[in-house]
Amino acid sequence: ATPTALLVGTGRGAQLGILISGPEILESTRKVDTIVLDKTGTVTSGRMALAEAIPAAGEDRAELLRIAGALEAGSEHPIAQAIAAGARESDPALPEVESFRNAPGTGASGVVDGRAVLVGREALLGDWAVTIPAELAAAKAAEEAKGRTAVLVAWDGVARGVVSVSDRVKPTSAEAIRQLRELGLEPVLLTGDHETVAREVAREVGIDRVIAGVMPADKVEVVRGLQAEGKRVAMVGDGVNDAAALAQADLGLAMGTGTDAAIAAADITLVRGDLMGAVDAIRLSRRTLGTIY
Ligand code: ADP
Ligand code: MG
Repeated sequence: ATPTALLVGTGRGAQLGILISGPEILESTRKVDTIVLDKTGTVTSGRMALAEAIPAAGEDRAELLRIAGALEAGSEHPIAQAIAAGARESDPALPEVESFRNAPGTGASGVVDGRAVLVGREALLGDWAVTIPAELAAAKAAEEAKGRTAVLVAWDGVARGVVSVSDRVKPTSAEAIRQLRELGLEPVLLTGDHETVAREVAREVGIDRVIAGVMPADKVEVVRGLQAEGKRVAMVGDGVNDAAALAQADLGLAMGTGTDAAIAAADITLVRGDLMGAVDAIRLSRRTLGTIY
């Protein structure tokens, strides 16, 4: 039989906007000592906006944005949506994309106006043997130093420019992380984004440990690695790319504003979609179990 205090705890959770998949979850919630936080959509809002479009020498800015936007209109990734929306502001009738393909964790490819287009990180361009001129690498690094996520645009085998998007830290993230520390949890920032951008976000919210540039399939390995160090790991995420890591963690928490895949893989859903929910869940589990043990 389920102890009454556990049922009370889960009922109180619903009032706090914390959906717990079963009363036994409170036990693992109480024991975690490390909390891995996905960056985009978890610590930050994930509602990105176009910041800059920087053409390579001899390229046209409007054309760069139009072609990149047309390709990204085929993707649901928050970076892609921001680039497509920004491009539509200057040109509402973007050309169609054909043969669109997602390269998870690295970018997207497709055909726009007869051009073979790539938008994504260095690794994606590298896969297609496109070289990145020093000038564009520097422009990308300068955007990243401002805390923006920057991606490269290439077509027909030539790098054509850099497009950057900005995201904001959620207003409650820094306070939630401070309280998680008070509860004895060590926060770790985990992201597929570039190290520079990740460090800037970590600095803003008070996280020291950053694991950046992680491919979607490798997020689960990071959680396993921490567990191998003897840590009891909670993971908070929102994306399809977080689902396996959420399932592997001792405790998986999904943002209620996130994808169905993340919610299905998690033990707890934070309905409000902010990290204060994680604080509430841990406090609640400790208080509830404290009445039994
Ligand atoms: P996160 O872990 O922050 O949720 P992802 O794993 O989804 O990020 O993506 C990692 C990186 O891959 C992004 O920062 C970006 O550089 C690149 N990327 C992924 N998808 C796209 C896309 N559709 N367009 C451009 N870049 C992309
Ligand atoms: Mg995310």
